[in-house]
Parts: sequence; C-alpha cells; structure tokens
Amino acid sequence: MCRDDRPEVQCWTSYWDLPYGPVSLPVKGSAGKTGDWRTFTPVVNNENCIKCYFCYMYCPEGTISVNDETGFVKIDYDYCKGCGICAKNCPKECISMEKMSK
Ligand code: SF4
Ligand code: SF4
Repeated sequence: MCRDDRPEVQCWTSYWDLPYGPVSLPVKGSAGKTGDWRTFTPVVNNENCIKCYFCYMYCPEGTISVNDETGFVKIDYDYCKGCGICAKNCPKECISMEKMSK
C-alpha cells in the first residue's frame, strides 16, 4: 500500500518489510501523563485490521503496542496526544479520531 505519489518515497506493504531499528516507549516525565493534552482520541476497529503495524511504526509518541495474544494493536491513552498520525496512515481506515468529551 502506498499513499504517496513521490518517486523517492518507498512503498512498504507492512511493518515487517522495514529494517530493524530501536524503539523508545513513553514513560512518565516532568510533564506527567501527557495524554491529558489530547482533544481527539484514536479508536481502533479491529474488524478490518490486517495487522500491518503501520500505526505502530508511525506513532511519534511510541504509545502503540501489539497485544502478544491477539496480534492486534493497543494504544496507551496515558501518553497518546491525539495527533491522528496513526489514523492517517492506516491503510484499512480502522482508526477513527473521536472528539473527547470533558
Ligand atoms: S493519535 Fe498520535 S500519539 Fe495517539 S496513538 Fe495515534 S499516532 Fe500515536
Ligand atoms: S489498525 Fe490499521 S495500521 Fe494499525 S495494524 Fe491495523 S490495519 Fe495496520
């Protein structure tokens, strides 16, 4: 799947095509649990998920992980900032951004 027409952009079909690299995970820092900043919340619908893990790969906060038992992704809402990058890059449009109610 490729959502970009630029020739210099490689089109991977899944996370597994990528070279190995380091992954950092969020921890509570001086700003506390930064998920409090969120206005929109990503909600995953597993029905159409193909377990490509693009959402996991693109999340800039490292808040998406994979459930070892099911293989589906899960989001750590304590640190997710609601940027919507995961939703934008999901090839199956499984992730919807829902406005949070206060
Ligand atoms: S909305 Fe942004 S921070 Fe939250 S899980 Fe998606 S990519 Fe990560
Ligand atoms: S939610 Fe979308 S991007 Fe994430 S693993 Fe499933 S299909 Fe891939």
